[in-house]
Amino acid sequence: MQDDVGLSLFHDRSTRLRRLIALTAAIPLLLQGCVTIPPPPKTHGSAHSRYTPRATPRIAAAPLDEISPQQAGQCRAHLEARAAAFTPLPDQFYGAGCATVNTVRLTALSGDSQPFAVTNLGPVTCPLADTFAAWARFGVDRAARQYLGSALVKIETMGSYNCRNVAGTDRRSGHATGNAIDVAAFVLADGRRISVLGQWSAGGGQEREFLRVVHLSACKRFGVVLGPDYNVAHHDHFHVELADSGVCR
Ligand SMILES: [Zn+2]
Repeated sequence: MQDDVGLSLFHDRSTRLRRLIALTAAIPLLLQGCVTIPPPPKTHGSAHSRYTPRATPRIAAAPLDEISPQQAGQCRAHLEARAAAFTPLPDQFYGAGCATVNTVRLTALSGDSQPFAVTNLGPVTCPLADTFAAWARFGVDRAARQYLGSALVKIETMGSYNCRNVAGTDRRSGHATGNAIDVAAFVLADGRRISVLGQWSAGGGQEREFLRVVHLSACKRFGVVLGPDYNVAHHDHFHVELADSGVCR
């Protein structure tokens, strides 16, 4: 752009205004040439709340075609440093917006002083696994000790990768790229099983508080978190997803 807005090209206010509007409209197109424009927010509906930026840095989810082998390697090293048990998976492209790129199969994670299992997970993107590992340790295991007096021994999930749309829309879900996990329950060392279905509304005071603390800490780390208060489709799990949307419901 050689034009300097406000100089001799603009002879009157209306011309200047029209040029400014045109320039403003063109900015996203101009930027597309040099930076990546984030995709529109992925939500499960039109109504959603905005959430303030995450409290901790995380490895950002990259568009599928922009993950270099070096980035993938760095992420896996990061995940190893968190004492996660995982297997890297080959990239798969299923078409129609569904793919698993830079994914891992996660089977166990680590708390402050003990490992714990993660069950029923299919492929998850490495950045999601990394964020999940941090949340599980600092957001879940510590909350279990503090609010329920017992360490975490297992996180039960309802899966991750699933080639489907956001319910009721024509947009692909975060699950369609392995970028979302549905969390159903937490099992503690003392044998208690705290599930979203069983304890979110009907649990004891400490159990309900634990689930709310865990939900809120997820909001500090994941771009999209949806639970029972969002809609009936989430009455039995927390949906956690790496995204830039800032949805916490
Ligand atoms: Zn989900």
